[in-house]
Amino acid sequence: MIGKEYGTKMPSHNGRGFMYLLHPTPELWTYVVPHRTQILYIADISFITTYLDLKPGTIVLESGTGSGSFSHSLARTIAPHGHLYTFEYHEERAKAAKQDFEEHGLSDLITMDCRDVYKSGFGITDLVNAVFLDLPAPWDAISSAKAAFKQRRIGKICCFSPCIEQVQRTCTSLNENGFVEIKMFECLIRNHEVHTIPVYTVKDAVSKIEVQQDKKRKRREQETFDSAKSQPRKDPPNLYVSKTPTDARGHTSYLTFATFLPVLDNEV
Ligand code: SAM
Repeated sequence: MIGKEYGTKMPSHNGRGFMYLLHPTPELWTYVVPHRTQILYIADISFITTYLDLKPGTIVLESGTGSGSFSHSLARTIAPHGHLYTFEYHEERAKAAKQDFEEHGLSDLITMDCRDVYKSGFGITDLVNAVFLDLPAPWDAISSAKAAFKQRRIGKICCFSPCIEQVQRTCTSLNENGFVEIKMFECLIRNHEVHTIPVYTVKDAVSKIEVQQDKKRKRREQETFDSAKSQPRKDPPNLYVSKTPTDARGHTSYLTFATFLPVLDNEV
């Protein structure tokens, strides 16, 4: 593989199969990242990225870094001129994530800081456009996150929590800290099963009922059927319908979003 261009089709050594060499992506990294913690997966990642309005140039604050699954997606979205400030208090995890960022050429885009953000805050003021908190007690980091936002711009925050009680405490804290448009989402994956069903005309349906109710008519139907036998049979057309399972599994966490409003001149 070494020295070959991405996209190259490589035959297997026995010549019976082949594979393509693909450029690594955050999605592929999420599949294989060593799980040092629970991680974010693609459904939540894409939803959060959209609702936080992340794009090239955005400056983002994240905590905790955990296994760095989301950090990789964030870095790709905000490149080349944005920046990610990510915080993790567990030393081993912080070291491992930092090494991954270096090996994946992301060091210029990501600043990794090992600190307890509940106790010490983020140490950042008037700098970021968006905040993402995947912490056991996000409410303890919200006032420090508030100070990190660019004070004269609208900003977006998202807190990722598995329990509704955590969501309630987070909403209270967001409200007390002046955030607005507080909304909570749950991202569930549903499979749509597509079936075909035959569509009967009204005439077909009526004659079916008549056949069941009236024996005499049934005989007549039989005669009609016998004479129709020689003619090619017409199947009713098919209609495509989709069904979803009633219970949608896959709860990971609740996503609580809120908006930071710019500080007015007389408040600065
Ligand atoms: N979103 C990450 C990902 O996709 O890989 C996973 C984050 S993991 C669930 C939560 C992380 O928050 C853990 O690694 C934990 O050590 C860290 N953490 C918990 N409390 C913290 C604190 N007070 N300050 C900084 N990090 C903290």
